[in-house]
Amino acid sequence: MVTFEMSNLPRHAYVHVPFCRHRCGYCDFTLVVGRDDLIDRYFAALAIELERVREPLELDTVYMGGGTPSHLGPDGLGRLFNLLATKLRIAAGAEVTVEANPLDVTPDFVAACRGLGVTRVSLGGQSLDAATLKTLDRDHGPDDVRAAVGRLLDTGLVVNLDLMTAAPGQTLAAVERDLAAAMTLGVQHVSVYCLTWEQGTVFESARRRGDLVPAEESLEQVMFEAAIDGLTAAGFEHYEVSNFARPGFRCRHNEAYWDCRPWEAFGPGAARFDGRTRITNHRSTVTWINKVLAGDDATGDVDAMTAEQAARERIVVGLRRRDGLDREVFRAASGFDLDTLAGEAIARWAAAGLATDDGRRVRLTRAGLLVSDALWADVLT
Ligand code: SF4
Repeated sequence: MVTFEMSNLPRHAYVHVPFCRHRCGYCDFTLVVGRDDLIDRYFAALAIELERVREPLELDTVYMGGGTPSHLGPDGLGRLFNLLATKLRIAAGAEVTVEANPLDVTPDFVAACRGLGVTRVSLGGQSLDAATLKTLDRDHGPDDVRAAVGRLLDTGLVVNLDLMTAAPGQTLAAVERDLAAAMTLGVQHVSVYCLTWEQGTVFESARRRGDLVPAEESLEQVMFEAAIDGLTAAGFEHYEVSNFARPGFRCRHNEAYWDCRPWEAFGPGAARFDGRTRITNHRSTVTWINKVLAGDDATGDVDAMTAEQAARERIVVGLRRRDGLDREVFRAASGFDLDTLAGEAIARWAAAGLATDDGRRVRLTRAGLLVSDALWADVLT
């Protein structure tokens, strides 16, 4: 079970809000569509789950993801914050992020965010190109993204914009236009994700029928490189494989994950972590609600790692970051010697031009980043 000692009480929490207006064809996240009738029962289950927290936690970061938290609307968001406040205290200077769909970012929603202490909104824009948004089965257009970003920035909120690449039929020129548009909007943070084809999605079924054709891998790589070149030239730091921030605007919540610090998590499909064990709640929203309300165990999955397995995972998340892994920091945090666990792999990567190693710090090169997912098997054995 996940246990938090006084010395490692989490200072970070994730809350999963599983409601969307529309299911995008590529999405396999934990969510329900057209089931707003479940919102009251979701809040009731969340209140019960929060009872797991014995003493109120003081948090440096809170992240409300989904699903679409903004689908709750201004009043629903207020209700969520009131409920969380029974067990979670937001520390002075904390980062409080809410994910939002552009269509939900009304003046009232923005005002509610400001009033509730939200500091950062992560906007699921995905593109500023009408054709790409249509292909991606999004329910908003480019002007909705522009209007939402403008409203949020005008109110002083920090904005992350999600962009997607490798959509079917998307050209490199279209990706470059998206990047240029994102930079023009003035957002402080951009996350760039390559479309993945998940089992059970409408997209994957269409791919099997031949109705949708994935981008060539070589084009995916060129698009990713265009994102790195474009955003870094515009002054963004490329600080993790998929994440770019203007100086001072890195996502502190994600950095806590990548530092393998303990975090709490609530809601269906949410995973909490005590530094060694990861417990994931049941992924079905309806099952999670029913089990919690019935007083049953709503755990979906338990991943209890040995100290060595946790250290190996720390290598992977560390190398996904552009700062890479510092040998001394790694030893102090994990209790393991980096070279004992991964010395051979690191030497191989360095010889192949996939990593640099100055004796103190190991970093993936751009070539390494492009194939990073294929490297982890060398470490996670
Ligand atoms: S809005 Fe986001 S979470 Fe909801 S279906 Fe679309 S991609 Fe998935």
